[in-house]
Amino acid sequence: MGATLVRGKIFNPLGLTEWQYFEDGALRIDESGYIQEIGDYQHLKSLDGLEMLDYSGYLILPGLIDMHTHLPQLPIRGKVAGTLLEWLDRYAFPIERAFAEPAYAQRLSECFFKSLLANGTTTALVLSSVHEASTHLAFEAAAQCGMRVLMGKVMMDQHAPDFMLENTAASLEGSQRLASRWHCQNKGLIRYAFTPRFALTCSMVMLEGIAQLHRQFPDSYIHSHLAENKAEIAAVTALYQNRHSYTQIYEKSGCLGPRTLMAHGIYLSESELAILKETQTRIAHCPSSNFFLKSGVFPLDAVQHAQIAFGLGSDIGGGPDISMFRVMRSMVEIQLTQPAHVKPTEAIYYATLAGAEALSLESETGNLSPGKSADFIVLDTDTLTSLSPQGESIEEILSQLVSLGGEKQVMKTFVRGKAVFSNDRG
Ligand SMILES: [Zn+2]
Repeated sequence: MGATLVRGKIFNPLGLTEWQYFEDGALRIDESGYIQEIGDYQHLKSLDGLEMLDYSGYLILPGLIDMHTHLPQLPIRGKVAGTLLEWLDRYAFPIERAFAEPAYAQRLSECFFKSLLANGTTTALVLSSVHEASTHLAFEAAAQCGMRVLMGKVMMDQHAPDFMLENTAASLEGSQRLASRWHCQNKGLIRYAFTPRFALTCSMVMLEGIAQLHRQFPDSYIHSHLAENKAEIAAVTALYQNRHSYTQIYEKSGCLGPRTLMAHGIYLSESELAILKETQTRIAHCPSSNFFLKSGVFPLDAVQHAQIAFGLGSDIGGGPDISMFRVMRSMVEIQLTQPAHVKPTEAIYYATLAGAEALSLESETGNLSPGKSADFIVLDTDTLTSLSPQGESIEEILSQLVSLGGEKQVMKTFVRGKAVFSNDRG
């Protein structure tokens, strides 16, 4: 691959309310797949010796970041069964059990990552199942598709169905083997995330073991769930005779920190928010899942006020939508009932740069600024805007994209300068 010039309408989020927009823009990408320059096409075109990728008329955004998704749950998305704990028993645990079968795990993993790329997701923080061998196959599929994937096998040594329960030491050893094999592979696109399912299904011994393993693998992650549902919180805190808050249980184990991602965080007291802030723990906000499982409304104001970093997650299959555009729409809609409204440009920020910041990957991905990996998507927004009698502003285009967009709009997906998905319909 030589140096490349990519032409199109380029939107580059720089913060919650700041962005760059180039109506006829260009990205210069070096032979290693990193962005050298962003600007007007007329300015950048004079550079000689560049291969040209002309997407004039198409919109280019940074690749989308899904901060929380369950690979084995892809087949059960959209299946209604009460709230979280009933849904886990009825659908999530049985489908994760099926993931033990290698041929099925391989087929589903390939389908899962292809589907993410077809929806414009270039980075995902993924939970597998408790099965080590199947998780290994999932990593192989991730490496094969060229996506940026942070993943780990789920760990559970208590309060789960017999067919999912693990021996504590065996679970820690299995996770260690997977981390040794896969952490920082595929030129750093793959990272390991130690994945205790949640405090109800993980003993304190296991959580402490995970904190130790995390320290052994620099730049690895801890990925879990926190305060998603009221019945879940009651069950977790009852385990510790209500002496500790949910957040304190993780804190006590040593599992909180800047590379710890907690999904949901809906019901957090002020003291819990203070712990998350102090430990620099991050949150994955999953609005479509919170709505689908009737979990509750994310306290956006309180989390922002506490200065806790967060991004967006699809939470497949608790969330029904793999498309991060649908997740963004869900965030905007749900927050309409709250004091802090979310603008479409802000939703794009949460699904890109904010996610990278929450994952401590902002020097590598999240927007299209020079020095970063060229992770971007090419979108056809004409079908959303073509009936309009006049030209649209970028805010209007993004508003329609967030409100109406999805897989159909994604024409191409690039990770580190390489096309990893092409929409052959176009
Ligand atoms: Zn989840």
